[in-house]
Formats: sequence, C-alpha cells, structure tokens
Amino acid sequence: MAVYENGKRVLGYNATRFLQKIRAAGGVAAAKSCHKEKPNAKPTTGFLKLVDHGQLDISLEALVLRDPWNTLFTESELGVARRRLERYGYFLPAAEPVSRSEPVAEIVDSDTYVEGAVNKVLVNRYERDEDAREACITHYGAVCYVCKFDFAVAYGSAFEGMIHVHHLVPIATINAEYRIDPIADLRPVCANCHAVIHRRIPCYTIAEVQGLLTAQIAT
Ligand SMILES: [Zn+2]
Ligand SMILES: [Zn+2]
Repeated sequence: MAVYENGKRVLGYNATRFLQKIRAAGGVAAAKSCHKEKPNAKPTTGFLKLVDHGQLDISLEALVLRDPWNTLFTESELGVARRRLERYGYFLPAAEPVSRSEPVAEIVDSDTYVEGAVNKVLVNRYERDEDAREACITHYGAVCYVCKFDFAVAYGSAFEGMIHVHHLVPIATINAEYRIDPIADLRPVCANCHAVIHRRIPCYTIAEVQGLLTAQIAT
C-alpha cells in the first residue's frame, strides 16, 4: 500500500490495477504477480515514471529486495526485481551533481539523469523511448558502439543488456515531423563513452570519441 500511496503522492500516478490486485489478493500476492519471469516483459508505466523521476527507491521492486520483505519472495522473483532495477541504473553509485560550469547537453522536454560511471548524463526523451531502445539494441547488440565495452563480458551474464542508448540527431534540427529511426538515429554506448559524448555542446560524434581513445592508446 505504501508503494501505491507514494506513487500517488510523489508522481501523482494512480496505479489502479495494482491497487485492485492488493484488494483482491493481498499485498504479497499482488507484489508476486508483478515479478513473474516473462520473456521480453516490458516495465510497467508506473515503473518507467519512477525511472523518469529518479525515484526508483520507492518502487515495488526496491521494496521487494529490501529486508525483511525479501524473505517473502523466491529467488526468481527477486531476480526479476533486481534485473529491472539494474537495467535502469539503480545500483550504480550516485554521481556528484554536475556543476554549473560543466556542459550538459540535450536539455529539451526532459530532465532525466542517467547515472554514468564518471558523470551524470542528461538524456533526452529519444534516449529513453523503450521501444526505440529495444530496436536499437536488437540491431547493434548491447555492446558499446564506441569502445566495444560489453557489460556481460566484463562483469558476467547477470549484467547483460546494461547499456545506454545515444541519440545522434542534434536536438536543434528536430522538428514536429521528426520520427525516430532506432537504427539510423540511435547507437548503444557504455556509460563512460556516453558521459564523454555529452561532455561538449554540441555532442562529440562517435568518430571523435573513437579518435580520442585511439590517440590515448597510441600514447
Ligand atoms: Zn564505450
Ligand atoms: Zn546521448
């Protein structure tokens, strides 16, 4: 009930279906029904709203993983919660806020921060579009387009699919007719490369960041 109440209070989001489940089956059963292993399951609207607002700490998933509630759930259910939170960077260490003097790019109709390993990256809504993201990653793989970093190779299969998606189209050139093409307009990038890309306005290009890496290797 607290998850429901918090969602309403913090985001103004009314998770009516979840509330119905609680009333019909009780809190534990309602929570369990949200944590079934399903291939290609998409996060709920409520969960994505929490992602958008950087409020995953009040998500059902975070509650399920927390002591003492985690004892009520199976390994499979806990795994679903963990992977969902992981995917949206919940477990990455909090970065220091970006200072005023540092460039942040692509501030348009969004104010979502994605935690990068070295910096915060302010992403636009095209980089958060779940369907476009999926299409991009399906095409290119969950491997950094710039440096070939692969979370699954580096940290193990539990971290597979942890990748940012960078939107190549300069925001200034986007008009009302613009429709995103996930393969043409998006590239999977690791958190580090993504932070570097957004370190300048306009963004560094993929080729420029690859050039920086090559130059460093050469020295
Ligand atoms: Zn990279
Ligand atoms: Zn980006």
